[in-house]
Amino acid sequence: MERPHNFSAGPCILPLEVFEKASQSVIDLDGSGLSILEISHRSAAFVEIIEKARALALEQLNLNNKGYKALFMQGGASMQFLMTAYNLLEKKAGYLDTGTWSANAIKEAKNFGNVEVVASSKDKNYNYIPKQYEVPTDLDYLHCTSNNTIFGTQMKSFPETVKMPLVCDMSSDIFSREIDYSQFDLIYAGAQKNMGPAGATLVVVKEDILGKVTRDIPSMMNYELFIKRESMFNTPPVFSVYVSMLTMEWLARNGGVSAIEKKNQKKSESIYSEIDRNPLFKGFTEKEDRSMMNATFTLKDEKLAPRFDELWQSANINGLNGHRSIGGYRASMYNALSIESVETLVDVMKHFEKTI
Ligand SMILES: *Cc1c(COP(=O)(O)O)cnc(C)c1O
Repeated sequence: MERPHNFSAGPCILPLEVFEKASQSVIDLDGSGLSILEISHRSAAFVEIIEKARALALEQLNLNNKGYKALFMQGGASMQFLMTAYNLLEKKAGYLDTGTWSANAIKEAKNFGNVEVVASSKDKNYNYIPKQYEVPTDLDYLHCTSNNTIFGTQMKSFPETVKMPLVCDMSSDIFSREIDYSQFDLIYAGAQKNMGPAGATLVVVKEDILGKVTRDIPSMMNYELFIKRESMFNTPPVFSVYVSMLTMEWLARNGGVSAIEKKNQKKSESIYSEIDRNPLFKGFTEKEDRSMMNATFTLKDEKLAPRFDELWQSANINGLNGHRSIGGYRASMYNALSIESVETLVDVMKHFEKTI
């Protein structure tokens, strides 16, 4: 059977060659006769895998030798909502409220201190990125979300925070575009959107921001301890780390972040130009804030939905439904999605217009 065009928002498409290699390794990891699922996480084979994964992450973000450590943790990005605050929030932190995930991060941080919402786009159901705002100077850190997976907006530039650490949830656009990653002091990302299967969370942290809060931090919540134990305080999510490593190797083989950004640009230009051209559809977000990863759009006439749904489903397209909180459609175009898949969707939209 031909593989569907998978626009799922996460967990999502990964490169087919990664699926193939990973499935082989479930039976026999690199000729060892053992499955990746049955070896010790302290074995030489796995230590090599996690070291490679950590090194590749720093390399792809261009953060080698800049004071950063890459860690693999569990609990998803949602665990990082509280871990960042646990480790960094002493008195007051600032948050940009740009979507559901930001709002969740704010809620968790409030368990640990004062939270100031520095700017919010909630007034318009998060369909834009706030721009004119001032960042107070007395914050322990500023937290932002680079790509708002549900609403389809993406930050194109980031606030300058010379005096405080900048923390960023990059779950849905890490490794997708070239930006200066060294402007951030802590980056986290659940693996399941551009990096690998669910289960692992990548944390990239600048070591010198840690150790400044006075509270006691439980071991499993403590970045410093995870750094000291080389990301192996307890059993890491072995398979998820392994497949993340394979995906990062695939990325490196294919020209890295700069090459994938060009492909991602092509894909997003293709879908957005059709959304703008086709009289049956309208985009959900402000144009200048459109996400290269998640394109959100709706039908101008909702009554046409059953007919459009039938059409894209019969074109072997999967996962196009919008998040339940905004409805409509969302085309998630993560790194591994091909340009052909996006062209197929655009063709379906064009064809749909002719049938109306
Ligand atoms: C999916 C997502 C999350 C939640 O990730 P979990 O790993 O399920 O906790 C958080 N932030 C963003 C931006 C996301 O896209």
